[in-house]
Amino acid sequence: MKYIGAHVTASGGVENAPLNASQIGANAFALFTKNQRQWKSTPLSEKSIKLFKKNCEKNNLDTKYILPHDSYLINLGSPDEEGLMKSRDAFLDEMQRCEQLGINLLNFHPGSHLKQITVEECLDIIAESINITLSKTKGVTAVIENTAGQGTNVGNEFWHLKHIIDKVEDKSRVGICIDTCHTYSAGYDLVGNYENVFKELDEVVGLDYLKAIHLNDSKKELGSRVDRHESIGKGTLGIEFFKRFMKDNRFDNIPIVLETPDETIWADEIKLLRSFETE
Ligand SMILES: [Zn+2]
Ligand SMILES: [Zn+2]
Repeated sequence: MKYIGAHVTASGGVENAPLNASQIGANAFALFTKNQRQWKSTPLSEKSIKLFKKNCEKNNLDTKYILPHDSYLINLGSPDEEGLMKSRDAFLDEMQRCEQLGINLLNFHPGSHLKQITVEECLDIIAESINITLSKTKGVTAVIENTAGQGTNVGNEFWHLKHIIDKVEDKSRVGICIDTCHTYSAGYDLVGNYENVFKELDEVVGLDYLKAIHLNDSKKELGSRVDRHESIGKGTLGIEFFKRFMKDNRFDNIPIVLETPDETIWADEIKLLRSFETE
């Protein structure tokens, strides 16, 4: 079966995220475990951690289907020594917060070369960042998200993900998250060539590494390399793509998270998607 939710707000404390997820009928969700626009974070209180776990349990939200997203400031492939150190510290903090909350996934955008190093060099630095973080933590898998390739972001081609994974020592704790909007914007034709895109992903990276999906429509055309999400069925991917996706059992039993722009219709989007599953 499919586990679907959205990236819900944790405003007022992480313990509110499962309540917000439950309200939209989700059985999976994403959240930021700290303010995503700041480097600094306040440690999670014992009370918050306890309540988070309790609220998940009460609302039948299995931690397997919770996919925290790291801060937008972090660049694990930074060519700048100071920026890299700051990013690695912040990433470690994010992973430790997941440990505390009993969550076993942490989703992140791989990084940016900032035109100062090559793509390969950037990917190597990212792999090293992951190795450092995994060696200091337990039980949490680093989930690399594919990107639209906007600006100097790496991660827009499947081989980038493979390159990073190849250099990660503990393969049991690294995986990928495929964002459907990013994939399409990066130039993979999920509309005209659905089967081949996933075949290519399987051949290049391996579907065994697929730990999560960000399910978004796109405002931009194929290959635009622009990251603009659209509500389900209202963008360039279109509703037929989502019908097909929901019937595809390769995406069962992993968190599927909406990051669509209109949060007032998340509950309806989830309902609509579920109706496609059995249609
Ligand atoms: Zn995403
Ligand atoms: Zn995006």
